[in-house]
Amino acid sequence: MNVKTKSKKIDVDYFQAELLNWYHTHKRSMPWREDPTAYHVWISEIMLQQTRVEAVFDYYLRFIHALPDIESLAMVDEDVLHKLWQGLGYYNRAKNLKKTAQRLVNEYQGQLPNTYEELIQLHGIGPYTAGAIASIAFSQKVVAVDGNVMRVIARITGDYRDIMQQATKKEMEKVVYDLLPDKDISSFNQALMELGALLCIPNGTAKCNLCPVSKVCYAFKENRQSELPVKKAKKARRIEKRTIFIMMNEQQEYYIQKRKKHSLLSNLWEFPSIDKHVSLHDLKEILQEFGIRYSKIVKIESAKHIFSHIEWHMQGYFVQVISNETHINANRKENPFEEEYTWVTKDSLEKHYSIPTAFKVYVDSIEHGDIYFLNKK
Ligand code: SF4
Repeated sequence: MNVKTKSKKIDVDYFQAELLNWYHTHKRSMPWREDPTAYHVWISEIMLQQTRVEAVFDYYLRFIHALPDIESLAMVDEDVLHKLWQGLGYYNRAKNLKKTAQRLVNEYQGQLPNTYEELIQLHGIGPYTAGAIASIAFSQKVVAVDGNVMRVIARITGDYRDIMQQATKKEMEKVVYDLLPDKDISSFNQALMELGALLCIPNGTAKCNLCPVSKVCYAFKENRQSELPVKKAKKARRIEKRTIFIMMNEQQEYYIQKRKKHSLLSNLWEFPSIDKHVSLHDLKEILQEFGIRYSKIVKIESAKHIFSHIEWHMQGYFVQVISNETHINANRKENPFEEEYTWVTKDSLEKHYSIPTAFKVYVDSIEHGDIYFLNKK
């Protein structure tokens, strides 16, 4: 049977046989592939969004060890969940996991439903993840089209449309559906992803000489790998300047607070900050205004963190305080303080509190003792 795409026909039997044969010989070993239950596929797929496969291994194993099933995820304490997620970024994904787990316990007897149609109704599960769970865990004949798969399909079929457009994605889902075998959908979908991850890699560096389906590939035949897929540039990110201050008291405890006022990273622990860069002189004034008595202020490292639409350009100050009181309700426009706060030791910070990756430079400075020694200088 042949599948007619926008620009060519593909011999489906040949494509399926070659791709599956290659996959079964070359697939990487991954912890979630050992026991691909719906829960395991779900957790791994959410972790893999925006993160490299190898980087996810340790997070995944730690997460599954701590929360082995949907019920334990539904009941997990929020701070424990954030700690398990720390380093993966995009904390909303972790929050959505818990929210969905609670719904599954209440409405689905603590199980993920086994159809694409039901999975897609769940919070935080989009078409790709629903397709991955339904096909890998439940052998449903559905597609799972992510960025890797779109790259492969665009190159094979010579599709020059913008892959950032929903209409293009829908078309590609149809092409992949027509290529699906009747059996072993799980392997086929994973094979396409694996081909995109291992051989059909981005930026024109595809390893076509090793590719099992190069015979039917438009980009290979026409030497157009570097032109495909077409992906229009995203809008430039907004730059936000921030001044972060790391306050330590006389008991060598650090001040952290729960971020409530903002939608970005809300409910996560952070160091206080002001959303502009300030001079040492201005910072002293701000601290005085909030009633914070200090014995030392030292400028520390600057850092940059990139979110999907925003970039934080941070400068940092270490503040050795001589009083534990902060006047958090002061009626000032640039109020760096939140209502919920605590002072924690270095050990406690490391073990029990999840501070978003955006503050990694400052957390590392505390954990490596650099901040503590500033106090001694
Ligand atoms: S032949 Fe090259 S460009 Fe075509 S699918 Fe294989 S790796 Fe990708």
